[in-house]
Amino acid sequence: MVTRTFDERRARMVERQLRRRGIADERVLVAMGRVPREAFVPALIADRAYDDAALPIGQDQTISQPYIVAAMCELLMLGGTEHVLDVGTGSGYAAAVLDELAASVVSVERIDLLAERARRVLEETGHGAVDVRVGDGSLGAPERAPYDAIAIAAATPIVPRELYDQLAVGGRMVLPLGGSRGQELTRIVRTPEGPEQTALLGCRFVPLVDG
Ligand code: SAH
Repeated sequence: MVTRTFDERRARMVERQLRRRGIADERVLVAMGRVPREAFVPALIADRAYDDAALPIGQDQTISQPYIVAAMCELLMLGGTEHVLDVGTGSGYAAAVLDELAASVVSVERIDLLAERARRVLEETGHGAVDVRVGDGSLGAPERAPYDAIAIAAATPIVPRELYDQLAVGGRMVLPLGGSRGQELTRIVRTPEGPEQTALLGCRFVPLVDG
């Protein structure tokens, strides 16, 4: 059996799981090729870091499938100057990818233990600039608003009002919209006339928990 290094597996993941499936934003492909997903999954399953799947990270939560992280980042249309809010830090992996793609990232997680671990791994992987906060992410982080982009990594049947209000005009939000059985990855653009909503693909996330 051939044993590949993590770097080789990451490069293959970018080609097979992302580019071949239609992720076309080169900046996203480069960012996904740089962030070591193996550092963000529990050590016991580091071997599965480049599986085409979400993986458990403890506390009944998951790190999203690489394709979903890439799709969300692509939909946010980041050029490098944006101020971004990431709701549901989890492992910190998506926050790290966003940090590669934007100017600044604020990330909110409700579970203290996950936030602490994410902070440490982000620091270790060169993403210590991400501002990880513990709290109810459905309320956002108003003191650092407005945001050019908001990524929500937990399912909600409705667009949280507070989060929409924290978007800059022209800002984008990507979220899994729907119930516990399945959701649609949806992009909401805040325009001067109000929200513009596009559903893009089916997905399955853990729920956004109240409070
Ligand atoms: N982006 C993460 C995926 C995490 S899964 C990653 O790359 O690993 C979703 C996360 O959202 C979980 O960690 C869960 O605890 C968190 N979450 C759920 N509801 C929340 C809320 N209201 N506020 C903040 N975080 C929340």
